[in-house]
Amino acid sequence: MSQQPSQARIVIVGGGIIGCSTAYHLAKLGCPDVLLLERAKLTSGSTHHAAGLVGQLRTSAGITQLLGHSVALYRSIEAETGLATGWKMNGGLRLACTRERMIELERQATTAHSFGLEMHLLTPSEARELWPLMRIDDLVGAAFLPTDGQANPSDITLALAKGARMHGATLLEDCAVTGVEVRDGRAVAVTTGEGRIACEVVVNCCGQWARELGRLAGVNVPLVSIQHQYMITEPIAGVTADLPTLRDPDRLTYYKEEVGGLVMGGYEPDPLAWAVEGIPEGFHFTLLDSNWDQFEQLMAQALPRVPALEAAGVKQLLNGPESFTPDGNFILGEAPEVAGYFVGAGFNAFGIASGGGAGRALAEWILAGEPPYDLWPVDIRRFGRPHDEIDWVRARTHEMYAKHYTIAWPHEEHASSRPYRRSPLYDDLAAAGACFGEKLGWERPNWFAPGGVAPRDEYSFGRPNWFPHVGEEHRAVRERVGVFDQTSFAKYVMKGPDAERALSWICANDVTRDPGTVVYTQLLNSRGGIECDLTVARLDDDRYYIVTGTGFATHDFHWIRSHVQAGMAVDLTDVTEQYSVIAVFGPRSRELLCGLTDDDLRNDAFPYGSVREIRVADAPVTALRVTYVGELGWELHTPVEHAREVYRAVMTAGRAHGVAPCGYRAIESLRLEKGYRAWGTDLTPDHSPLHAGLGFAVKLGSNAPFLGREALDEQRRNGLARRLACFTTDDNDALLLGRETIYRNGERVGWLTSAGYGYTVDKSIGYGYVRNPAGVDRKFLQSGTYELEVANRRVPAAIHFGALHDPRNERIRA
Ligand SMILES: Cc1cc2nc3c(=O)[nH]c(=O)nc-3n(C[C@H](O)[C@H](O)[C@H](O)COP(=O)(O)OP(=O)(O)OC[C@H]3O[C@@H](n4cnc5c(N)ncnc54)[C@H](O)[C@@H]3O)c2cc1C
Repeated sequence: MSQQPSQARIVIVGGGIIGCSTAYHLAKLGCPDVLLLERAKLTSGSTHHAAGLVGQLRTSAGITQLLGHSVALYRSIEAETGLATGWKMNGGLRLACTRERMIELERQATTAHSFGLEMHLLTPSEARELWPLMRIDDLVGAAFLPTDGQANPSDITLALAKGARMHGATLLEDCAVTGVEVRDGRAVAVTTGEGRIACEVVVNCCGQWARELGRLAGVNVPLVSIQHQYMITEPIAGVTADLPTLRDPDRLTYYKEEVGGLVMGGYEPDPLAWAVEGIPEGFHFTLLDSNWDQFEQLMAQALPRVPALEAAGVKQLLNGPESFTPDGNFILGEAPEVAGYFVGAGFNAFGIASGGGAGRALAEWILAGEPPYDLWPVDIRRFGRPHDEIDWVRARTHEMYAKHYTIAWPHEEHASSRPYRRSPLYDDLAAAGACFGEKLGWERPNWFAPGGVAPRDEYSFGRPNWFPHVGEEHRAVRERVGVFDQTSFAKYVMKGPDAERALSWICANDVTRDPGTVVYTQLLNSRGGIECDLTVARLDDDRYYIVTGTGFATHDFHWIRSHVQAGMAVDLTDVTEQYSVIAVFGPRSRELLCGLTDDDLRNDAFPYGSVREIRVADAPVTALRVTYVGELGWELHTPVEHAREVYRAVMTAGRAHGVAPCGYRAIESLRLEKGYRAWGTDLTPDHSPLHAGLGFAVKLGSNAPFLGREALDEQRRNGLARRLACFTTDDNDALLLGRETIYRNGERVGWLTSAGYGYTVDKSIGYGYVRNPAGVDRKFLQSGTYELEVANRRVPAAIHFGALHDPRNERIRA
């Protein structure tokens, strides 16, 4: 290897489909000086043994868009490079053997329509017309997505590699990266056997080796290798080149045509780990031994579906390891630990489907310094403390693999690696009948089972078993007082002489107000999109306490820290584990708390939107008068060692006021009625506060500069092409869960970003952006007649302006 340069602007490590696609897109976008280093030969990792199915539909609009970019690229890359890719757009069939699975398909069809994809529901015989070899006696129905397809993974990768070179990138083989140099928290060079290469950006595209490479720089890439098998048959009569890909989830298997025969693989419920002690040296273009014993269970499922397999000759049972992650999504973006260190790895056996789009997204992210669109489901900053522990990661990843083809129930929780992080109130909550859910390792009560009821979720596409109990909690908060354990909130302290100046630049709302105030604010990217949605409590002139959602702990910390302007003297610390949060909400919350404190909780002394250091049950408490449920109340932030005494005192004193312990599902119902938005669904990097109806929380009235301001000013000048609106339906059979399509005057204009049931208004409620390229204003919204498509069925819907509950905020200011 003598061609190795001593420097490059961007070094990509790994020559599989992801590395080659990233190099291609960076070079095509005009980025000079892109260098890809592959330790063996291009495509010698998982890429060479992929089956090559390319599906597109996911539950996130952003990831579906990314997969659509792959398809568009695979259609055109052959013409650009002259290399064949084996791309065929034969469509994808998905089968349902039960009524429940059919409902899932109906909901997926609606999701597809929401995201602009065609997807048709078929009867069993219509499905067989597309796939004549299958038996259909156990089928309830099927769905067909005509733009899905299949490709030859190695050929696509080599076409991308050629395209990358054509646009000026350098790709070197037989060149292993052995070290990554980090200086002052930034990646500055990589080392290989040939020496050092100085660079500005390192991109880790090492597939199942990515965790190992990450460790060299102190970056956590939480993935593990699992064995994945598929069988390749000799030609079978009746298998034609235009056969769609087929997924048969109730029978755990998938199929595609290959050289007149079939590829058949699947996801078994007892996956086999691989390379637990580390990936062996020299594992390139290598396969594992065929494991017929393990594959037998999939074969037993496949034979009744495709009887021709019985007599078919078997060319090979291919066993290839692949990297899988704890939530089944891949890992993209800048590592929170090291600036300039990007990751594109962990593709969960859909790296070929994702490759084109993921490489493009990663390239744009590297060049712009922020994700090009909402990529939160795959953002590396979605991970947190549990993901540092390999045993936790392995157990959860195996659970996800085993559930690959099980029905994805609404509100489904994971079972593995639990309990992991427990609030100090855990035992008290369990004793009170809590049914826990889990977020970022934290156990959190979803709902409380009354005496005689088991605290256990029974999943369903209809009204679930917890429905009435959550209703009781909801009513307790609206009518009396409810108590929530919100200890898992992420909490940071920003301190220092420049804290006000630093936050003023990062926050869209005015955080220069006096100590004692709490400000609800969004943090925006340069497009004006919402990167974080949180509260900032000013405790002192130079000290702020920042509170955000549990799942955003790593993401929001990283966003804030990396946007503090150079030269500012501030210190940001994560204090999540130091404080418990006991939230007391409801019309009787003041009466309740007044019995436990000598501090003045009346409006004059403690108005809405303020923070005070008080004592409750003799414990120190930072009390924030805010609400996410739309009632009078306080969040009591107390050091963890005092949490139990405060909680017990509140619950004991609360008896006289009809107090109820409440969970996160009640919060969801309460906030939907009040119109409070949720980050990750209603609020994303794709939407600005103006789109989201949060203009009241932005300091556009002042001249203060802040990140994202220019984009908002432009939106104000040019008008908005979408706005978030609230919908309800009176059709009680139409269960709104999110992603339902919105129709205005019969035309598709968007989809619901979040939805649920409001017990006070006694209706299903959903929020979603109404889009119109020519502009969306109040008149446009008001003048439409609306319907929602729910599980492939349209129901009439009403649009609302203002909150459904307490629109004048009288209750929260009581
Ligand atoms: C049996 C099987 C079936 C599959 N079927 C499908 C399918 O139907 N559809 C689909 O979309 N996906 C499928 N996949 C998944 C797909 O193969 C992968 O997701 C995809 O190939 C991952 O690409 P990658 O570039 O991330 O990783 P890889 O292809 O593994 O590439 C990583 C590269 O990094 C190199 N590398 C590692 N360490 C270093 C270092 N230190 N220095 C330099 N180079 C290094 C390796 O040599 C390797 O070439 C399947 C996978 C398997 C195993």
